Amino acid sequence: MKRYDYLIVGSGIFGAVFAYLANRAGKRCLVIDKRPHVGGNVYCTEQHGIIVHHYGPHIFHTSSKEVWDFVNALVPFNRFTYMPVAHAKGKMYNLPFNMNTFYQMWGCTTPAEAAAKLHEQKLLFESEMQAQGIPAPRNLEEQALCLVGRDIYEKLIKGYTEKQWGRPCSELPPFIIKRLPVRLTYDNNYFNDTYQGIPIGGYNKLIAALLSGIECRTNEDFFAHREHWESAAEKIVFTGQIDEFYNYRYGKLQYRTVRFEEEVHPTPNLQGCAVVNYPDRNVPYTRIIEHKHFEHFGDAVYANPHTVISKEFSTEWTAGSEPFYPVNDAANNALAERYRALAAQENNVIFGGRLAEYKYYDMAPVIANVLHHPEVQSWA
Ligand code: UDP
Repeated sequence: MKRYDYLIVGSGIFGAVFAYLANRAGKRCLVIDKRPHVGGNVYCTEQHGIIVHHYGPHIFHTSSKEVWDFVNALVPFNRFTYMPVAHAKGKMYNLPFNMNTFYQMWGCTTPAEAAAKLHEQKLLFESEMQAQGIPAPRNLEEQALCLVGRDIYEKLIKGYTEKQWGRPCSELPPFIIKRLPVRLTYDNNYFNDTYQGIPIGGYNKLIAALLSGIECRTNEDFFAHREHWESAAEKIVFTGQIDEFYNYRYGKLQYRTVRFEEEVHPTPNLQGCAVVNYPDRNVPYTRIIEHKHFEHFGDAVYANPHTVISKEFSTEWTAGSEPFYPVNDAANNALAERYRALAAQENNVIFGGRLAEYKYYDMAPVIANVLHHPEVQSWA
């Protein structure tokens, strides 16, 4: 008999939730992570008494009561509502695209005026598509033009998206832009979900609650001692890059990485909200995060005379950096499908999370996937 039932490679959301449930079911687990800390990209640091989302802003949002109850049973969450703004050509615009945005963009004051303006904008493009015999948007650019028209696309979407993904909008899949709601109400809440918040005290508390009582080893690279690790457990839960797992047999998948430049400022409130997006192409970063706004609201912002911000720079992933986003274009999706076909044949390896599934998805659906995973269900 092997020493562990499960070796969990990677301690991000998928790995930590899987380990928690396995441990609760009496399974012997070992979690390894190649980084010096657990938590993957939800890991936070603390500076000047401010919790810093070290790998970029993470806002927990879901409409699943099951998932919300699951995380809230582990740690309390605050009432944070994500309401980023965009700074474009010296002007501020509300996001997601809502009545505030339409007022700022076109001066529309009623839903009827905004609907008419959107209709006019979209119609221009839809008739172009019809004339060319294109039945449905084939890429992000066409999708954006159909959703909100050219003014908003040019000012708030094109530059941001091309900086974030490093590719023209015409080469990106339509679904990426469908993540953003379009509303005819004065509602700046970025998400349509029922539940939203951030663990009080930061995500490290959530990860600590998940991994409590479970053996974890950091600075352990699975690939550096692969045979050793494979012989240590009956099954492996792999949350790293699926192409690396298969030694790049069919070629390399592409990922985007993000670099952060952190700055401390001797002022209590630098930008007035957690996230400001910068869609202009001549600004090298995509957004600036002011971390204290994730956990302090109203006058409490002024209790700390300092603030910590991160400027976010998006680049193509290369070995040695952390992969953040799968690039779900046609070529990468086709390659990922071939790797998934290999993964489907494995009896003793479970693949999960953004990197192992090569899927651009958020924390809550990742948790739902673990909760409903056949392996987890088999312990019930
Ligand atoms: N997006 C944009 N302008 C913005 C914010 C987002 O065009 O100001 C687009 C961009 O293509 C991005 C997509 O919307 O990839 C989804 O944004 P989301 O905020 O969901 O991205 P994430 O938080 O995962 O980085």
